[in-house]
Amino acid sequence: MTELKDVKGVGPKSLSLLNKIGIYTLEDLVTHYPFRYDVLERNNLAEVEDGGKIIIDGKVESMPILMRFKAGLNKMNFRLVTQSGVVGVSIFNRAFLKTQLVVGTSVIVIGKLDKAKNVITASDIKMGSLMSKAKIEPVYHCTSGLTTKNLSTYINMALLMHGKEILDYIPSVYLEKYNFVNKKTALNIIHNPSTVEKLKEVTVRLKYEELFAFMFKINYLKLQNKKKNNGLVRQIDREKLDHFINSLPYKLTNDQLTAVKEIIEDMSSNNRMNRLLQGDVGSGKTIVSFIAMLANHFSGYQSALMAPTEILAVQHYNNLKKFLANIDINVQLLTGSTTKKDKQHIYKGLKDGSISMIVGTHALIQEEVEYCNLGLVITDEQHRFGVHQRANLQNKGVRPDVLYMSATPIPRTYALTIFGDMDVSTIKERPAGRQKIDTFVKKNSEIKDVLEMMYEELKKKHQVYVIAPLIEDSEHSELATVCNLKDQMKLAFGEYYKIDIVHGKMASGAKDVIMEQFKNNEIQILISTTVVEVGVDVPNATTIVIFDADRFGLSTLHQLRGRVGRGDSKSMCILISDSDAERLKIMEKEDDGFVISEEDFKLRGHGDLFGTKQSGDMSFKIANIRQDYKILLQAKKDSKEYLLDKESDNDELKKILISTIEEG
Ligand code: ADP
Ligand code: MG
Repeated sequence: MTELKDVKGVGPKSLSLLNKIGIYTLEDLVTHYPFRYDVLERNNLAEVEDGGKIIIDGKVESMPILMRFKAGLNKMNFRLVTQSGVVGVSIFNRAFLKTQLVVGTSVIVIGKLDKAKNVITASDIKMGSLMSKAKIEPVYHCTSGLTTKNLSTYINMALLMHGKEILDYIPSVYLEKYNFVNKKTALNIIHNPSTVEKLKEVTVRLKYEELFAFMFKINYLKLQNKKKNNGLVRQIDREKLDHFINSLPYKLTNDQLTAVKEIIEDMSSNNRMNRLLQGDVGSGKTIVSFIAMLANHFSGYQSALMAPTEILAVQHYNNLKKFLANIDINVQLLTGSTTKKDKQHIYKGLKDGSISMIVGTHALIQEEVEYCNLGLVITDEQHRFGVHQRANLQNKGVRPDVLYMSATPIPRTYALTIFGDMDVSTIKERPAGRQKIDTFVKKNSEIKDVLEMMYEELKKKHQVYVIAPLIEDSEHSELATVCNLKDQMKLAFGEYYKIDIVHGKMASGAKDVIMEQFKNNEIQILISTTVVEVGVDVPNATTIVIFDADRFGLSTLHQLRGRVGRGDSKSMCILISDSDAERLKIMEKEDDGFVISEEDFKLRGHGDLFGTKQSGDMSFKIANIRQDYKILLQAKKDSKEYLLDKESDNDELKKILISTIEEG
């Protein structure tokens, strides 16, 4: 295929600018879709109010007169003949247009009309005319030095000269079935639409194509996983395991038992496990993962448990050690703050197999880490890892089984896409004795009530989380900050209770110390950002107060709320906000994470569910799986049919689709 640098007009400088916005290939360029369109519709001079916005086209009637002022300021005046009369046009700082504005040239003028003077002060002048009535103009994401106009030029040049080379990912059967135009035509229209109808039509077609290719990949991966017999086959001693399960201080719930059973079945079969364990916050996923690790250990393999934050990794490590207290087994912790010396030691132990279980953060997937016989990989709150990182970890072992845990219940659409290639175990039932967490939405003016509610809990010797969206004051924002709240809380409670803060910018050692102190009830009020959002488990904390709650998505709030209600005592969540009450009220009524995530999804899209960083995994160029659910379902069905259809196995397209998946 033609390279980007060979597109006419693209020089070294524009090439690096294109790279900067993620365009590296010819295909990237022509699928850099407009993020919106400006519809330029012609106004009539008489209809526009004085001072009103006007878009009008016509021919230049008089040679533009250019005036230059000091400091590089210039102004140009000319007369324009339009369908609804003659009008004066003046525009600032476009001296460079003068040579193009020859008398008789057709132009489109956008600006404001001064009726008394009959002059338009233009903000923009474009060459050309508004054909019939309206002109639809694409607007692209650009970068400094690369304008929408540049992009439009490159894209159209690429389509004109090399449009035939662009691969169409829709097999011809479906092109015919849906009466879709070919790829080149579709691209031409999406970048230069003549009518809104046509634009809509090709948008559907391009969305379908994108989702078809994506779902083909998901279906393919799932099929490979099923048929390759590529897993580790191991003997798991159920009796030994059950003995252990029965010695736990509590009974597992039925859902936990089912999840354990499904996992053990996966691990014993010769198919590689690729399973998502999902369950609401507090549903008890961790213990299930520990049991899986133990089963893996009994069968002679190493396990790795990866957590998204250091706080959580440390917590898992401590719990795991407690869990395994009566078993002779080498468990280690590896995080970013493990000393160099300890790291070397751990690397050695992982390589020679003397370490059986390792818990850690991203540090587990650094290049240097080599395993002796990694048999099981578990990632907690996996939505926080990118697909790439997950793949990295999988490659460390021979073909380890993989278990993903997520407390963010995934709306069905997402389950179909990112987790479409996985099996799913769901824990719905909560451990016995759990009470509903009372949730209240309060205004800032009601802070006194809030402090009193906190005080009531503190008196009962319970602990409190206070959450703020920001760490420190910034000039641009009125939002609550961790540092400010610390001062306020000290004023209110400092005399009787110990108050401290934790946030993402602290050194991790310092964070651990604070978390440990909170866990041991040496700190009663912990003020924090969302770093405590995932997984942190301190059962004596019964109250969480979240300032500027409207700043967070409902799923995040639900996660935060899940920090309390972990013991037998009645717990409480207070959301403070002066706005967005309607959305926040959902939290008062609803305590089912699945329902909340669906609501959030409807209101905010997937941004909150996966965090901004992770949305890369889900970034479609044109499809939006929330809005395009129907297209997604169709694409899913069709792509599966195509994959399974033997007759098309020799199709060039099918081969290409498969080879791109296998290359990674
Ligand atoms: P999550 O699913 O959010 O990761 P955890 O695994 O952290 O939940 O479990 C929450 C709390 O519930 C922990 O303190 C854990 O020890 C406890 N727990 C887990 N399973 C049970 C059970 N079956 N009965 C009672 N308590 C349980
Ligand atoms: Mg957890």
